[in-house]
Amino acid sequence: LRRFFDPLQDIAMFYNSYQSANAALEKLSGVLEEASTVPEPVDPLPLPHARGELTFDRVRFGYGETTVLPEFDLVVPAGQTVALVGATGAGKSTLARLIARFYDPDGGQVRLDGVPLDRVTDAELRRAVVMVTQESYLFSGSIADNISFGRPEATRAEIEAAATAIGAHGFITALPEGYDTDVRKRGGRLSAGQRQLVSFARAFLADPAVLVLDEATSSLDVPSERLVQAALQTLLADRTAVIIAHRLSTVEVADRVLVMEAGRLVEDGAPADLVAGRGRFADLHRAWADSLV
Ligand code: ADP
Repeated sequence: LRRFFDPLQDIAMFYNSYQSANAALEKLSGVLEEASTVPEPVDPLPLPHARGELTFDRVRFGYGETTVLPEFDLVVPAGQTVALVGATGAGKSTLARLIARFYDPDGGQVRLDGVPLDRVTDAELRRAVVMVTQESYLFSGSIADNISFGRPEATRAEIEAAATAIGAHGFITALPEGYDTDVRKRGGRLSAGQRQLVSFARAFLADPAVLVLDEATSSLDVPSERLVQAALQTLLADRTAVIIAHRLSTVEVADRVLVMEAGRLVEDGAPADLVAGRGRFADLHRAWADSLV
């Protein structure tokens, strides 16, 4: 239980998002663990208005020789919030990367609204699926540029509306240069919570049908955690979300919890139902709740 429980105690610090065009990705390449190397489809299918239904159909995947997902089946209806939990190495990040098509499966298919991801153009996929990960370093440039990273054509009014929705407008306008503050120069002075809110505003403005979120594992003070949690609720509304969850509060707002073990789903259900059961999640939940008293 200990190993299962350890990574779940902490709180997110740095988030990242991959929703942009390649040029913008290159800007961040120093901090990206990996960038997509999958080929563009020769014969793409249109995905003009993604609803966000995700299907894993007998997906097999490994890095090289080692199989990580032997055969993975999953349907996430459009709009559902799914929390992924499980020990380190269970395959949660791998699942997340397949949704964002950093890799193609070795067998089976990942589909968005019924369209196999390898038939979707990179541009359409980046609009439909946004990934926010732990390594979120804001890049050099203004706060406004950082927020509009995935939608460079956004107006200042749209940027401010996104920041307002996420609850970041107040602290941004309190900075001497407001939205024009250079985050690299001033970045050291943005708190971890503020940096998260900026990355949430970025994802909110990009408005993808599918959000893939890897909550990071650093602690925030209680007021910041409340702000981030409220922002997360706003960000999750009206879209499909798959969250690698490290916080009890996040799991509790999910519609559905998936517990992974060695590349397989071992539990799948509403959080309250799993807590009432006698499985892995019930144990985890108890340990988690005990750690908070
Ligand atoms: P989790 O997110 O649940 O901790 P991961 O999806 O990161 O699990 O890892 C699943 C398995 O795949 C682990 O055995 C891990 O060592 C391996 N793995 C993850 N990423 C890579 C990679 N880039 N190259 C090779 N092996 C990897």
